[in-house]
Amino acid sequence: MTVKSDYEQFVAAQQTLKDNPMGHFFFEQERRYVKPFTLYGNLHYVGDNWVCAHLLDTGEGLVLFDAGNIGATAMLVQAIWEAGFNPADVRWMVLSHAHVDHIGAAPFFQTMFGTQVYLGAPDADMLATRPEWTFLHDAHDVQYQGFDVDVAINDGDVFTFGNTEIQFYLVPGHTEGCIACFFDVHDGNETKRVGYYGGFGFNTLQKGHLCEYGDLDFAMRERYLASLEKVRQQPVDIFMPNHTNNVNLLEKRELFLANPNRNPFVDPDAWGRYLDEKRTALLALMNDPKQH
Ligand SMILES: [Zn+2]
Repeated sequence: MTVKSDYEQFVAAQQTLKDNPMGHFFFEQERRYVKPFTLYGNLHYVGDNWVCAHLLDTGEGLVLFDAGNIGATAMLVQAIWEAGFNPADVRWMVLSHAHVDHIGAAPFFQTMFGTQVYLGAPDADMLATRPEWTFLHDAHDVQYQGFDVDVAINDGDVFTFGNTEIQFYLVPGHTEGCIACFFDVHDGNETKRVGYYGGFGFNTLQKGHLCEYGDLDFAMRERYLASLEKVRQQPVDIFMPNHTNNVNLLEKRELFLANPNRNPFVDPDAWGRYLDEKRTALLALMNDPKQH
């Protein structure tokens, strides 16, 4: 090995990542920066144009929902400042599930600010015992440090964060430990109910994926259907997504900025509509002969 060959190996590894279909998500992430905005009252958007992150001001500290993509910590910290808050005031972090694009800044906040990290119990177990299923390797980030979860969330848990009580459920499907949660947000004298669903992607429900995971009966698809059913009837005024495309967040943001008197994020039908869409799409996947 020489300095030159070491460098060439490094460049080749970078090229391999760039050529990977998922690889581009981990390069030049700052190009995905979205100027933060207040979604409603004490709820703020601090995510990028693909992966969501939301900040809830509880009056006694901040709750950060999701930690952004791996490699995007600086961008998330900047977004929190730009939203008008100090990142050191993030006392709690609620992770939607344990995939690489949602846990990026968790170890940084935990170490730097003592943030308490919450994650669905089955995903906390996955992180500890089968970390390969977080897809960390997709990012090729050798600097990334793992982390221990402070609070493993179980189905039916209710936790209080400052002035806000959050009701949690486990909604296995995209991962075993995806969470859904519900809480109130306030704008002056007005209150709205927020619903969060921690993972919709079907990438983990594909035949090949499930076989490698050890789910030879594809039971996860049935569990996903049951999860949708479980929380479908929750009254939700504001559907809080964990990827922007769940609610067309970028388009809604533009509409909202153009007309601040009409908040397009307040839409009591959005939750049920999207969960029904996913149910229909999942049934189609389950009926696809190529997926048997
Ligand atoms: Zn995921």
